[in-house]
Amino acid sequence: MTKNIDLLIIGSGISGLSVYLEAKKKKINNILIIDKGFHVGGRICSKNLNNIYFNHGAPFISRSKIKKSLSFFNLLKHNKNISRTVIKNIRNKSQIVYYPSPMMRSFFEYFNKNLIIKQKTKAINVERDGNFFIVNCSDNKFIITKKIVLSVPAPQASELIKKINPQIVNEINKIKYSKCLAFLIAFDQKVDIPKYSFFEDDAGDLSTLFCGITFSNNQTNSVVVRMSNKWSEINFEYDKETLIRKCLLLLSKKITHFKKYNISSTYCHKWRYSQVINWLSPSIPNVNKDKSIGFAGDWTVGPTIEDAFISGEKVVKNLL
Ligand SMILES: Cc1cc2nc3c(=O)[nH]c(=O)nc-3n(C[C@H](O)[C@H](O)[C@H](O)COP(=O)(O)OP(=O)(O)OC[C@H]3O[C@@H](n4cnc5c(N)ncnc54)[C@H](O)[C@@H]3O)c2cc1C
Repeated sequence: MTKNIDLLIIGSGISGLSVYLEAKKKKINNILIIDKGFHVGGRICSKNLNNIYFNHGAPFISRSKIKKSLSFFNLLKHNKNISRTVIKNIRNKSQIVYYPSPMMRSFFEYFNKNLIIKQKTKAINVERDGNFFIVNCSDNKFIITKKIVLSVPAPQASELIKKINPQIVNEINKIKYSKCLAFLIAFDQKVDIPKYSFFEDDAGDLSTLFCGITFSNNQTNSVVVRMSNKWSEINFEYDKETLIRKCLLLLSKKITHFKKYNISSTYCHKWRYSQVINWLSPSIPNVNKDKSIGFAGDWTVGPTIEDAFISGEKVVKNLL
């Protein structure tokens, strides 16, 4: 049993980390973050497949021209792992993007030293006992906390909160996500495929293809293919082997010389909750009445990493 936590943050994605950083600014010291995954970062994630790193979640950090959050800008500026580059977006317009090296997950090395995070710890349910919350975790332990921030995707937040804050559940259940199927393909040699491009998939929709682990020139023996929302929606329930076959077939149709390369390994990741399509209306408060429960996450502000970061800043402002 862990006692006397002042603030429990459920979810170590970018929104959970933003909550942590903002709470620290308010001199809250007794903070714990828990996450069910193996690594910090949630959908900002990378996978090591036979010593090749792939970013199978968000491929880069995009920023709007209007600098929405100064703290986020400063994070990008001071994080030595982060570089910037210009890519053409889906409408062929140039767009500045930021990417941590050597992989997206490196973004979090910058914070790791000072954070207290319990990974591989899933919150199963949350109950209220007077002025405290009791959180039952997957390791059969309970965490007792004064305040709690749910920075998990909307469906998980709804599940955790349904008994103690049923009023907001209807609003949370309106949130919708796109599905995304991401494929990682490693070759036993360097491949000559456009570094970053869009192609029309079987569903007549644009998908993205990334060649190389990062945007640097020296790593081109890997490909990440991010299928479009439409293709992913249509094909989502197929087993992963079938999906990989379908993806490879599609690529060999699109890229004439694709077949000449030997593939050394493949992987398919299914994102059931990829990017939010709609988010909480600004008129819905992100904290409960007595300011003991708060909600953060992209689904409370908007579809980007920066929005998720801003959601953490917003909830701390109202909660603490
Ligand atoms: C394929 C893909 C491509 C994307 N492309 C871009 C892009 O180009 N640019 C961009 O800005 N954004 C992009 N995004 C979106 C961006 O990644 C997300 O908006 C952002 O990372 C969301 O952060 P978050 O903290 O809100 O949620 P998450 O990162 O999902 O973090 C939530 C965390 O909660 C944990 N969790 C869930 N349930 C529990 C539980 N019961 N107990 C404990 N822990 C729990 C999860 O393990 C996870 O770590 C993309 C996303 C995907 C998947």
